[in-house]
Amino acid sequence: MPETTKQGTLFIVATPIGNLKDITQRAVEVLESVDWVAAEDTRHTKPLLQTLGINQTLISLHDHNEASRSVQLLARLQQGESGALVSDAGTPLINDPGYHLVKLLREHNINVVPIPGASAVITALCAAGLPTDRFSYEGFLPAKSGKRCLVLAGLKEDVRTLVFYESPHRVQATLIDLQQEFGGDRVMSVARELTKKFEQFVQGTIDEVIAYFEHNSDKVRGEFVLMVGGATEKEAVALSEWDSLIEVLLKQKLPVKQISEIVADYAGIKKKPIYNRVLALKD
Ligand code: SAM
Repeated sequence: MPETTKQGTLFIVATPIGNLKDITQRAVEVLESVDWVAAEDTRHTKPLLQTLGINQTLISLHDHNEASRSVQLLARLQQGESGALVSDAGTPLINDPGYHLVKLLREHNINVVPIPGASAVITALCAAGLPTDRFSYEGFLPAKSGKRCLVLAGLKEDVRTLVFYESPHRVQATLIDLQQEFGGDRVMSVARELTKKFEQFVQGTIDEVIAYFEHNSDKVRGEFVLMVGGATEKEAVALSEWDSLIEVLLKQKLPVKQISEIVADYAGIKKKPIYNRVLALKD
């Protein structure tokens, strides 16, 4: 009878988001002991491993080769090798590659073991002073303002704290869209350069945060997490009160603009939030 090979394990290893001391002891042990490390960008991971004194075989796994690479890595794991997956920073799969690989491995009953560590979303939330009992991680918003506003309109009534990742060249435009969709009075916190030398939290109302970055343009650099307090129950109820009327008008196939005008007029509220509500209900 042929000998059955014991299958290997894939370790999902979190790496620091800035401060290199944030690597865990367990992460170092795993990165030392596996047969290979699959990395989002091998040029980025190589110096990290060098700093840790680890000499490893690096294999690239990024958004553009994940499908084919996953099949190759599955075969290696089935032959008994063990590997680790890392991304450039933080926890793999959190707005980083790895989902297709982990899904494939789970489908083939390969052991997948998480090695937890830093992630910008949790690092930002735990020090922001916004409610953390319920939150919604939304990743990156769309790059174009029109689509971004549509997504935000759908989140306006969410009572959970909302968390977004954002790039420095879009952060101010996104703050303006937040102001337009949620109103300038909503509380928020912006976490910048977490765990690094110039780490900063800017908090206040959306209006205040916009004003801060307008007056401190030198701070519009680095890496950002935006956190916005959830809608109060009162705000959430206010717009949805008009849902049944909107739905009746949608069924009559009236144009979105006309429905918004009718409902805004009838309810005595501004057209823009109703317009976005109509669009959200239409989809
Ligand atoms: N996998 C990572 C994680 O676990 O957080 C996220 C990767 S995503 C491609 C990169 C984004 O995460 C950045 O654009 C920024 O929004 C956020 N981020 C990562 N490191 C950060 C840091 N040190 N400070 C603030 N935000 C950070």
